[in-house]
Amino acid sequence: TVVVVVVGAGQAGVQVAASLREHGHAGRVVLVDTEEPLPYQRPPLSKTYLTDREPAEPTLRSAAFYAEHGIELRTGTRVRAVDVAAGVVTFGDGADLRWTDLVLATGSRPVPLAVPGTDLGGVLPLRTLADARRLRALLPSVRRVVVIGGGFIGLEVAGAALTSGAAVTVLEAAPRLLGRSVTATTAEVLLAHHRRWGIDVRVAAKATEIVGEHGKVRAVRTSDGDLLPAELVVVGIGITARDELAREAGLAVDDGIVVDAGLRTAHPHVYAIGDCARFPGPGVSTVRLESVQNATDQAEHVAQAIATGATAPYGAVPWFWSHQHGARLQMAGLTTGTDDTVVTGDPGKPAFSVYCFRGGALVGVESVNRPADHLKARKLLAEGRPVRRTEFGAGPGVTAGRLS
Ligand code: FAD
Repeated sequence: TVVVVVVGAGQAGVQVAASLREHGHAGRVVLVDTEEPLPYQRPPLSKTYLTDREPAEPTLRSAAFYAEHGIELRTGTRVRAVDVAAGVVTFGDGADLRWTDLVLATGSRPVPLAVPGTDLGGVLPLRTLADARRLRALLPSVRRVVVIGGGFIGLEVAGAALTSGAAVTVLEAAPRLLGRSVTATTAEVLLAHHRRWGIDVRVAAKATEIVGEHGKVRAVRTSDGDLLPAELVVVGIGITARDELAREAGLAVDDGIVVDAGLRTAHPHVYAIGDCARFPGPGVSTVRLESVQNATDQAEHVAQAIATGATAPYGAVPWFWSHQHGARLQMAGLTTGTDDTVVTGDPGKPAFSVYCFRGGALVGVESVNRPADHLKARKLLAEGRPVRRTEFGAGPGVTAGRLS
């Protein structure tokens, strides 16, 4: 009989299990996660879960869903090892389970901050629901918050902390915000946006030490020699793929489990999807993406391959969103290697889009408070025809600029 084992019941793992049934897969589906009791989604954890008076539980599916679809959900269970030659996973308690197809959807973990003091009380990462609960419990009682890392999670948490009434400082070590993900234009607008709201955003500023008293954080020392008082420090300096199971099983890893255009590892029945997967991306050799869209679409693709034997390459258009108190950012495509941009709308508001080109063809669009532009961009990019810069003309409200 066919047994699909899915390691990791996050956004990707839960979707692959659900999609297997939608595509008519009749064999066993075993979905395993160390966390319990029910799989949940992460995006609200840095947004509404922190700010709403009575936040909704971020559960992905009800317990009944798994039962109704014959999905064997084993939460509170770790997969300790994978043997690809024998077709077996070993659980934390030593028990084995045979599979015919294995989907690795192990996600990612926060990069630890390498400065003294990160073990003090009141210093938190934000990845899990437990992290978010801790943060939510602390926020009402703190007056000063320092966020280390000016990426999406850091900026969202900064906004949530501001909403809860705290004075907030963001420290970003790089010379600009969101260096891994958006163009300089969008980064500059967001920097101005956060400062206008009263967040003290400092770029090219490193945290060098977290200073405590009686086991609790008191302040953060910066590379400029400042000592910033804080009762709460949130660290969001990036994530790394949880690829150790694959590595130990002898599969190729390179900041992520390396897969081909069909999202398969070197073993034809072992797949990797979501945050933990490095795959051939549109216009780039390989990429690892950290988004709900990527997790969901890759899960759907792999479920179809397992259930129906489909062999088409994976080719969904990447997209992403982030809400930063009043700035709703949406992105489509991959803007790596952008060499030319066209900005439409009004960055001052902010309500604008940045169209990104490489070699004269559109590769991605970043929109802030312009949802219609975003939807149009996703459609354009999905059509697959080259969209030239000249199609955007140079009418009023259109400015062109090269990225440094
Ligand atoms: P995960 O959701 O991390 O799930 C992996 C699961 O695997 C985990 O539950 C883990 O416990 C389990 N696991 C790992 N190893 C083992 C093992 N050996 N045995 C058993 N289980 C194991 N994306 C967006 O697109 N938009 C957003 O606005 C957005 N906001 C975010 C806000 C926060 C605070 C965070 C943390 C992320 C956010 N993301 C957002 C990113 C998005 O949540 C992730 O890209 C997505 O969760 C990836 O799904 P995944 O299934 O690959 O990994």
